[in-house]
Amino acid sequence: MAQDQMMPPSMYCRKCGYQLAGLSENRCPECGRPFDPSNPRTFLRHPKGWRVRQWLRRIAWGLLALAVASAIALAVTIAVLHSRWKAQDRAITAIRQAGGRVSIDTPERSLALPILFGCRMNRGFNPGPAQYRAGLLGRRFAYLNDRAVEVLLFNGPLVVGRNRVVVYDAWQDIPVDDAWLANLRNLPYVMSVLIASTEMTDAGLEHFRGMGSLHTLFLRCPRVTQSAVDQLQRSLPRANVKTLRQPPASAPASAPQSGGG
Ligand SMILES: [Zn+2]
Repeated sequence: MAQDQMMPPSMYCRKCGYQLAGLSENRCPECGRPFDPSNPRTFLRHPKGWRVRQWLRRIAWGLLALAVASAIALAVTIAVLHSRWKAQDRAITAIRQAGGRVSIDTPERSLALPILFGCRMNRGFNPGPAQYRAGLLGRRFAYLNDRAVEVLLFNGPLVVGRNRVVVYDAWQDIPVDDAWLANLRNLPYVMSVLIASTEMTDAGLEHFRGMGSLHTLFLRCPRVTQSAVDQLQRSLPRANVKTLRQPPASAPASAPQSGGG
């Protein structure tokens, strides 16, 4: 309190904004306007335009904070998407090398990511060299929106189109074993996995535990036991985990006939 009283009062001319504190005469030396230090109505407490400048300063700081926060959020998003994409890309390569097929899609539920980053124009199963539509950040980040959503680990007829049909009866084996299936853990968006393998056992099912995105896991793997399937189903209550029956041993899986089944 005592310190406040020792400070000279801040006074500025109402007309020209000149600083009036410490003058011997109660008259503005700049414009000649008289003032009375005992009457606050005859002078300004702050320089002219002070309030406007104060608000502009606050807005500028707010915008700066917003810009910094946005830049950090964008950098974190890119880093997360990029690390997921790298892992996913390795898994896609492994699936193709094993003879499987992957359906690549772009998220449609949220439009924010495709608008910001862009998206793949050619989608579906093994769509070949990627073609991208640019987002607000240009085309260079569009690959980050690639999502492997469906994996087919079998050979067999597949009618791809508006009404895609998987011909369950004509699946042929792909030799993927339990260790290989660890690749699928790198697909954070995968919704549907279909496997026909005589090499896969119950141990292979462990890789699907904790795959929260999974809707469907269809198996035609004779060495996988029903109790292991039931156990996995209990740990993935929202997914449909199912064993498909084996095709008749005599049936030659040669000419794909989409009419059957
Ligand atoms: Zn003045």
